[in-house]
Amino acid sequence: ATPMSVMVGVGRAAGAGVLVKDAQAMQQLQRVDTVVVDKTGTLTQGRPQLTGVQVHGDADPTQVLVLAAALERSSEHPLAHAVVTAADAGSGGGVGGVGAGRSLPAVEDFTAPAGRGVSGLVEGHRVLVGSARHLREHDVDPTPVQELAEGVRAGGATAVLVAVDGTPAAVLAIADPVRQTTAEALSVLRAEGVEVVMLTGDAEATAAAVAGQVGIDRFEAEVTPERKHEVVRELREQGHVVAMVGDGVNDAPALAAADVGVAVGTGTDVALESAGITLLQADLTALVRARRLSRATMGNIR
Ligand code: ADP
Ligand code: MG
Repeated sequence: ATPMSVMVGVGRAAGAGVLVKDAQAMQQLQRVDTVVVDKTGTLTQGRPQLTGVQVHGDADPTQVLVLAAALERSSEHPLAHAVVTAADAGSGGGVGGVGAGRSLPAVEDFTAPAGRGVSGLVEGHRVLVGSARHLREHDVDPTPVQELAEGVRAGGATAVLVAVDGTPAAVLAIADPVRQTTAEALSVLRAEGVEVVMLTGDAEATAAAVAGQVGIDRFEAEVTPERKHEVVRELREQGHVVAMVGDGVNDAPALAAADVGVAVGTGTDVALESAGITLLQADLTALVRARRLSRATMGNIR
């Protein structure tokens, strides 16, 4: 492209809510034949809310929620925000919280492995909050709560498991509705010959429910950040021109590996830094517009 047409494209994109950091990414966008999308915060509204606490055995739901929230306060994951908000407000599906303004217990030994969950010592208890994989990686068998979790997932919600002192104690149900514009934007992309692949760290059953809602038939669940990166690389090796759309810390390696990395504007700083393009509103309609601009202003070059 001539420098002038690139500048015009970048300028028009800004007007359409698309921030272009890397002009070459904008040029590549028209050639993209495969769009890889993250689920949480990309297809969904990204404002997950706690809708229930289902305890196992004689665990106390309020205590479990407070222990979980104490850890999640230090995480910037959208799921973490839902847990902390519910604990503050006491709004966890009828479960009482500590009440707004009252402080959560202190945490020692905090760790937050990306795409898995959080762990630490709270009030003398070893607490794990996250995926079944996260529990397994800490030698806790999630089997006793898997049935509760599957019930939550069947409805498209995320099941967040909580273990206390080596025993699964509860499943937190966290709902994050699909954005109204998602299905339409994806069908436009498909009509333009683009294949859409969803990659999510979430469980199979949740992924299947959400994919079904937006008409995606190619997806992979329980994907680690490393795997997201690997899938993008494999698709490129097969000759595809790949755009990756994501919002999280866990998406950063895949964003950097794609021909076009697209961050959604509500995402984390790491995601924004790794992407050549940012959608100011977290809405895939903006990606459709950006592709059209890419074609219109840079189409007949090369
Ligand atoms: P996605 O690919 O859908 O954005 P992530 O890779 O960020 O999901 O996370 C994958 C899974 O790891 C989540 O579905 C959740 O089960 C778990 N997880 C990650 N971070 C947290 C957290 N802070 N609290 C609870 N669960 C978490
Ligand atoms: Mg995400």
